[in-house]
Amino acid sequence: MKIVVVGAGIGGLTLALSLRATGNTDVTVYERAKEVRGLGVGINLLPHAMRELTEIGMADRIAGIGTAPHALAYYNRHGQQIWREPRGLAAGYRWPQQSVHRGELQLALRDAVQERLGDVIRLDNRLTDLDAAGKRPRARFDSAGQQIDVEADLIVAAEGIHSAARAMHYPAEGAPPWSGLTLWRGIADAPVFLDGRTMIMAGDGEQKFVAYPLSAPDASGRSRINFIAELRGPGVADADWNRAVDASPIAELFRDWRFDWIDVPAIIRSSEELFEYPMVDRDPLPRWTFGRTTLLGDAAHAMYPNGSNGASQAIIDARTLAFHLATAGSIDEALAAYELDRRPAMTSLLASTRSAGPERVMQIAAERAPRGFVDIHDVIAADELDDIANGYKRAAGFLPELLNARPSLTPGAAS
Ligand SMILES: Cc1cc2nc3c(=O)[nH]c(=O)nc-3n(C[C@H](O)[C@H](O)[C@H](O)COP(=O)(O)OP(=O)(O)OC[C@H]3O[C@@H](n4cnc5c(N)ncnc54)[C@H](O)[C@@H]3O)c2cc1C
Repeated sequence: MKIVVVGAGIGGLTLALSLRATGNTDVTVYERAKEVRGLGVGINLLPHAMRELTEIGMADRIAGIGTAPHALAYYNRHGQQIWREPRGLAAGYRWPQQSVHRGELQLALRDAVQERLGDVIRLDNRLTDLDAAGKRPRARFDSAGQQIDVEADLIVAAEGIHSAARAMHYPAEGAPPWSGLTLWRGIADAPVFLDGRTMIMAGDGEQKFVAYPLSAPDASGRSRINFIAELRGPGVADADWNRAVDASPIAELFRDWRFDWIDVPAIIRSSEELFEYPMVDRDPLPRWTFGRTTLLGDAAHAMYPNGSNGASQAIIDARTLAFHLATAGSIDEALAAYELDRRPAMTSLLASTRSAGPERVMQIAAERAPRGFVDIHDVIAADELDDIANGYKRAAGFLPELLNARPSLTPGAAS
């Protein structure tokens, strides 16, 4: 079966590896960029994604580039703790959570694709048209200035939030809708905070700071810390992952966020580069599959970073599609099963991230106790905190007991 994958991002490369793992070797990946440069800052791979990456033999490489947080804690804008929960192996999962640099992950996936499938990544190939009619869909690429047409048994569009294929199927959709929040993302070499293995989120729906280490502390107690500073407004022109801005004015917006356990403005000031991005997502779609073409990852369901699920869900899409292609009676049945498994789940996860996902505890604490609290349980009952955290995990498919017991997406695997 000849399969064309559009986009050598996290989803497209994982799909190529997943197809290889189920015996499909006629796979070509077309990528717009002239080289895979490994861009971006940190992302989290949650245990449900780490399960899939482990089952395609990527666990050691990822452990080599990332670090495994063992807790997640939420704070208000006064630095008081609202909620803390174990993460990864500490939470009883069979797989860890890994915090990694997105670009390093992309390069690790690219290297694995080259080792296992050979020279199948076609750089400088931008999808410009897609003909989904008939049994052999056709993609047109601007290939280093030449127009080329490629026919396949299946074309998977994994070209991210600005997917050209999606725009062809939904021409009236326009730019990704803006939440009203602006994000500044960076990586700083800074002193570790708390125990050096905890991811934190502080603030509320108006202003927030998220941070987690990307490396173990060095001998002087410093590590690479990934962070996202977030503020309602001020408005950014378009969703470009690589727009660099000056850190000082952003650090100034957080000047009062100096707590005895973290110094937020100092971290922002010491970032190597700071990237500005509007917090945008995509509306859920009524359909991903058109003939023998389908959407995958952000092309299908770009979501807010609340809950750290964007890359993780792209990885699960890839493994699910490869599983159905290997086990269904035909390509059409496989695509129908993929969409049935993934699209309703992503529609509900998109709704959950739009209502702040697990970070809703921070908004509730700010509404009920804007000046802070003595005891968080005077503000939010323990059950309510628990329901919010577990409700999100259920929507995203990573309640520990369910994930640990779910059958593998490797055809024929024991569990
Ligand atoms: C440069 C970059 C930096 C990012 N940085 C971050 C970050 O710091 N934090 C974060 O949470 N998320 C980041 N993301 C998004 C994150 O990678 C995705 O949300 C998630 O990994 C889902 O992966 P995906 O494969 O669906 O999309 P992506 O990982 O976005 O991959 C899409 C790929 O398709 C390619 N492409 C786009 N259009 C075309 C076309 N017409 N033809 C061919 N190829 C095309 C892109 O160049 C890219 O390689 C970044 C994405 C990019 C592209």
